[in-house]
Amino acid sequence: MEGYLKEEHLEMQKAARRFTDEKIVPIADKLDQEEAEIPQEILDEMGKLGYFGILIPEEYGGLGLDMISYVVVTEELSRGWLGVGSVPARNVLCGEVLTAGGNEEQKKRFLPGMATGALQTASAGTEAEAGSDAANIRLKAVRKGDEYVLNGTKMFCTFANKANIVFTYARTADVKPKHRGISLFLVEKKPGDQFQPPQLVGNRIRTIGYHGMNTYELAYEDCRVPVANLVGEENRGFYLLMSGYEVARIQFSARSIGVAQAAFEAALKYSKERVQFDQPIAKFQAIRFKLADMATDIALARQFTYYAAAKRDRGERCDLEAGMVKLFAAEMTLKHTWNAIQIHGGYGYTKEFPVNRYWRDAGLLPIGEGTTEIQREIIARRLLGE
Ligand SMILES: Cc1cc2nc3c(=O)[nH]c(=O)nc-3n(C[C@H](O)[C@H](O)[C@H](O)COP(=O)(O)OP(=O)(O)OC[C@H]3O[C@@H](n4cnc5c(N)ncnc54)[C@H](O)[C@@H]3O)c2cc1C
Repeated sequence: MEGYLKEEHLEMQKAARRFTDEKIVPIADKLDQEEAEIPQEILDEMGKLGYFGILIPEEYGGLGLDMISYVVVTEELSRGWLGVGSVPARNVLCGEVLTAGGNEEQKKRFLPGMATGALQTASAGTEAEAGSDAANIRLKAVRKGDEYVLNGTKMFCTFANKANIVFTYARTADVKPKHRGISLFLVEKKPGDQFQPPQLVGNRIRTIGYHGMNTYELAYEDCRVPVANLVGEENRGFYLLMSGYEVARIQFSARSIGVAQAAFEAALKYSKERVQFDQPIAKFQAIRFKLADMATDIALARQFTYYAAAKRDRGERCDLEAGMVKLFAAEMTLKHTWNAIQIHGGYGYTKEFPVNRYWRDAGLLPIGEGTTEIQREIIARRLLGE
């Protein structure tokens, strides 16, 4: 069953499972209901375990591990709480982008701190008019001497308050096609809800789930960034954004599977305990078949995620597989977290059981990192050879 997992992956999985069961599961429901953030002690422990630098090369202070390691850790953390399984994605993914596109000075300056979590990052791509149409970025960066001056707004920048560096995609040329005029800037800031320096202003956007990390609308008002913080060449930033998609989508599947697994385990337990018509509801075929479908879909999604991760680890192109598994895992998780509520009957619709959290969290999965519709479009384009 776990054919893709070698001894070292099983060790990582075991450690992440223990950490999740001891530290995350006991606090997740309460903090979710309070819409609270992940406690700093948890972030610190995750830093010590190396989770912020799983893919960051060892020479820059990371663990330098493979994608499968990242997948197994993500699934376990997300089983406890989606926010916790998602938080390392910022440093890991920004680390990928910086490793691929940054110069030696930038890598030496930022990657070691990102690997330990001493430096936190957020990624600001999305704007009001640039959601699925990611190339439609309008936030402007204009060079003035040895600085760029940034003006405009970003939407949905998750973790922006905690971040020391906001990876900001900005327009540096008005050209057609639009994606050829975008550059990537490292916007440094002090972490905290007050958003210093003052030229970067953040307004929190309240969400229905995915708590633990806050998400922000950011306004850049004459925000000055040194030329040294331009990543790669000017107008090549969109390619850097795209270069992270395979890793991001495979990891997103692992997040989905963690949530689905948690919902399945809760439903299985409840179905054995809840008695109606003088027998546990697990004896009714309608409930048994739901459980069978849940376990089957989760196993398929997990194996396909390992497959896509293994392709990526071999250095092979895997955008098709990453799109397919992201699509499948997100949809099946939304479906089965609802099935878990259904198995709990009226109690599932209360805040007394964690299944309501799994379902609210699952709602993000078909939207983030490329919507379900966009994944289908990508898959169809590849199939049709367009
Ligand atoms: C909680 C949360 C956290 C987020 N965190 C971040 C973050 O940290 N950084 C960041 O940059 N972004 C972040 N995002 C943004 C996220 O990536 C976008 O919401 C997502 O890409 C969709 O963009 P949109 O919301 O503008 O929807 P739209 O693009 O406006 O889509 C609306 C609908 O139209 C459909 N649609 C659009 N275009 C097409 C098409 N060509 N064909 C078919 N259907 C189409 C979509 O699939 C969707 O159903 C976050 C979002 C949320 C909700």
